[in-house]
Amino acid sequence: MTDIKIEEEGEKKSLNFIEIAVEKDLSEGKNGGKIQTRFPPEPNGYLHIGHAKAVCIDFGIAQKYNGVCNLRFDDTNPVKEDVEYVDAIKEDIEWLGYKWGNIYYASDYFQQLWDFAIKIIKEGKAYIDEQSAEEIAKQKGTPTQAGINSPYRERPIQENLDLFQRMNTGEIAEGAMVLRAKIDMANPNMHFRDPIMYRIINHSHHRTGTTWKAYPMYDFAHGQSDYIEGVTHSICTLEFEVHRPLYNYFIELIKESDKYQPRQMEFNRLNLTYTVMSKRKLLTLVKDGLVNGWDDPRMPTLCGYRRRGYSPESIHKFIDKIGYTKYDGIIDVSLLESVVREDLNSRATRVSAVINPVKCIITNYPEGKVEKMDAINNPEDHNSASHIIEFSRELYIEREDFMEDAPKKYFRMTPGQEVRLKNAYIVKCTGCKKNAEGDIEEVYCEYDPNTKSGMPESNRKVKGTLHWVSVAHSLPAEVRLYDRLFKVENPTLEEQDGNFRELLNPDSLKVLTNCMVEKYLTEMKPLDYLQFQRIGYFNLDKNSAPDKLIFNRTIGLKDTWSKINK
Ligand code: ATP
Ligand code: MG
Repeated sequence: MTDIKIEEEGEKKSLNFIEIAVEKDLSEGKNGGKIQTRFPPEPNGYLHIGHAKAVCIDFGIAQKYNGVCNLRFDDTNPVKEDVEYVDAIKEDIEWLGYKWGNIYYASDYFQQLWDFAIKIIKEGKAYIDEQSAEEIAKQKGTPTQAGINSPYRERPIQENLDLFQRMNTGEIAEGAMVLRAKIDMANPNMHFRDPIMYRIINHSHHRTGTTWKAYPMYDFAHGQSDYIEGVTHSICTLEFEVHRPLYNYFIELIKESDKYQPRQMEFNRLNLTYTVMSKRKLLTLVKDGLVNGWDDPRMPTLCGYRRRGYSPESIHKFIDKIGYTKYDGIIDVSLLESVVREDLNSRATRVSAVINPVKCIITNYPEGKVEKMDAINNPEDHNSASHIIEFSRELYIEREDFMEDAPKKYFRMTPGQEVRLKNAYIVKCTGCKKNAEGDIEEVYCEYDPNTKSGMPESNRKVKGTLHWVSVAHSLPAEVRLYDRLFKVENPTLEEQDGNFRELLNPDSLKVLTNCMVEKYLTEMKPLDYLQFQRIGYFNLDKNSAPDKLIFNRTIGLKDTWSKINK
């Protein structure tokens, strides 16, 4: 089902509580031993990493127990939904390495759901309420205090049937009527206090157009859709735990036999520090231009992470690490970052890029001479290939790798001190040239020809190793340094009146436009995983072109946040 290998060889993992329950159902022969799950996104936004947690358990359970997982678009609210999102959701699930059985749309069941509702009305178990949403809310009561019956509760069945039809013709205004289940206004579970089953929405639906004006509510659509499809395990997040009795109640009303019964199970939602996760908030970030689209590399969306350079395997490893529980909490985003860092360490091609260049001239190196140095692609991999990096008399090094008056423990370039140039020679700094303002324009050094990497003399101890690129063999590039989007640990908790603008990290994106990178980078494809040696993990942006190279910083080599904040 998936090409992505996440479990390490020989690793035996204990089962999570969902797997334990599924195995128990199987051993008891429930539903004839069949396993069927679904992933039910509402197509009103792009998938984020929280959804990935749901995707991994929905598809993972089906995969592990020889079942099937279908993709169901929960498109019961035409106002917020769009096909753009449908396509993006499919792409992201595929990126995670999963294949669905079928694609379904809750909207395909509108007729069946309507027929179920008619059946329930005919049984005297639902009625049309003409009160406003506010009035209905007022009568709900509290968990410790019973609610009040609606004055429309005892409406005759025939009248209910007639009004229900009219709710769907367009003659009744939005909000003027709803269909409510007639259950129990005193039930301790608030969801049983005559929940709304249908409401009127006068908005064209992206698939059914203007056929429907009355739309089913979540509680009347979800369980029924599971039932229609034959879902055996309907896995969702903890906030639906209190809906479960209602889920079972509606299925009881419509089910035709006792042979099959879908089961709802709940796990803890993923929340991450320094991150907002709800689609509504992510949409605000996009709409207000606070980020550059859903796939901005600072977004916690799967397309954002992909563009930023996270591998799908690292998402799996992270989800695996945090596991599935029955308790809500918030996960430190540095855990995700450390998983990504570890993953990229084994995956990324090591290359040379100078992001803040200053010229460095090796005064005793012959003019016009070019040496082809061997640069290993990944020292973590014993079978790693290597590539050629050209070395010459004129190089670029990082500005911060030179200091004229350096403190004692500065092991980089400073007059009189030796450093190694990665994959090349040991050089001794001899001085620099400054302009009228005192800015360093050029750094000078001399090389020792006996110290080329691989020569016996190359073992000579020097404390610092610097990366470099050759002036004549490097290309200009734009480098985008991404950081956390929020500067506060829990933006959802700290926002005022839904406004999180002030909580944004002003330094979440820095664009460097005069970087120089080794030529080899023109051979890279978008999304290839790279390590700019000594700087961090990067990838090629999707908008990069051979004549305008653009790189995104995926993550730094070390966690700098924990140091700053602790
Ligand atoms: P949001 O609250 O971000 O808008 P949602 O729950 O409305 O998300 P849906 O499209 O309805 O989004 O979600 C599809 C599935 O993903 C549901 O089963 C839902 O429970 C699950 N899901 C959504 N957010 C998370 C999360 N943060 N952690 C785990 N699962 C999640
Ligand atoms: Mg939802």
